[in-house]
Amino acid sequence: MRSLTQAASGVTAAAGAVTAAADTAATAPDLDPQVYLDPSVSPAAFVGPIAVKHIPGKGRGLVATQQLQPGQLLLVTPPLALVEADLGEIPDHDELQEVMCSSGAQYTSWQAAWLQALVCSVEHGNSSSSSSSSSSSSSSSSSSSSSTDLSVPDMLPPAGYSSWYGEPAAGSTAAAAAAAAAGPRVPFQELGLDEERLWGAIVLNCYGEGFQDLPATLCSGAPINSQLGLWGPFALLNHSCCPNTVNYTLRDSMVVRAAAALPAGAELCINYLGRGALRPLSQRQLELEACYGFKCSCDRCQAEAAAADKAADLHVFHALRRASVAQQSRGEDSLEATAAFEKLVEALRVRYGQQVVQDEQLLSAMAAASSQAAAMVAF
Ligand SMILES: [Zn+2]
Repeated sequence: MRSLTQAASGVTAAAGAVTAAADTAATAPDLDPQVYLDPSVSPAAFVGPIAVKHIPGKGRGLVATQQLQPGQLLLVTPPLALVEADLGEIPDHDELQEVMCSSGAQYTSWQAAWLQALVCSVEHGNSSSSSSSSSSSSSSSSSSSSSTDLSVPDMLPPAGYSSWYGEPAAGSTAAAAAAAAAGPRVPFQELGLDEERLWGAIVLNCYGEGFQDLPATLCSGAPINSQLGLWGPFALLNHSCCPNTVNYTLRDSMVVRAAAALPAGAELCINYLGRGALRPLSQRQLELEACYGFKCSCDRCQAEAAAADKAADLHVFHALRRASVAQQSRGEDSLEATAAFEKLVEALRVRYGQQVVQDEQLLSAMAAASSQAAAMVAF
């Protein structure tokens, strides 16, 4: 009975934890349901329990300031600049820059501050942002940065922020008042940024997507377009090949949610590679180095590198063992393969922390380690 009581108590405690987690998720702020019903409603800007923090080896990054639940809304931010095209046809970087530098583009002080921050980050090798080409994003664990400067513009735009390019408020007095509240706008030429410097910020920080959030788009009847844009606070997110957030665009805003239960203090990461994240380790490393200038050392890359080492060890182990067995079966006196095999076994015992084991035990331990590493990355 006692054990049953204890078990029941454990179940109660577990149920309580689940309920508490559900309560947290249920009470956490989320998008206005109207975004799923009315194509004219844009999601309100939002900054959840996140903060800017210096990430060793990466520069600035975003971390959770409290425990997060899967799916929890973390960030909704309007674009600093955006270009759209037909479904699936993501505009290229040139188009974005051309529109941004055109005479029609007008920037609020909030947009200007973020553009300045992105350009400065590129110049100082702190390109922590996102970029992408096909359906991905970017930001970088920009290796080269050792900056500990955590100052960034306000993550929330001022009230009244509407379209990024300063389209005159059409119609209502309320719209005009809202536009006025966002402050005066100035053209690119008055921002003090030249086009070459802007190009660097675009390449490292832009995000492209072939379509916006499909449930909201389809339910509301809004047109489905592809987009390429810059989103300021979103650009603070560093890369991981096993990201712990998901992001998507809704209307012209970028939405970021937790992809798993995360502890307070966890660094929040996105995937810069889009579907390229499905590629093997060596190809991912090459692309990240070429496009963003850093060597990824995320948990997945480390696990795959370790698995690759073990796989190589296993290959040599098998080859030498076969050679050793063959020599012994021939009754040869000079058992070079056997000596090499025994030497390897000893080295593997040291490498994998095995104490006194037989060859078969060592082999199975290595195989288990390899399969665990493989399972770890097979998400
Ligand atoms: Zn990685």
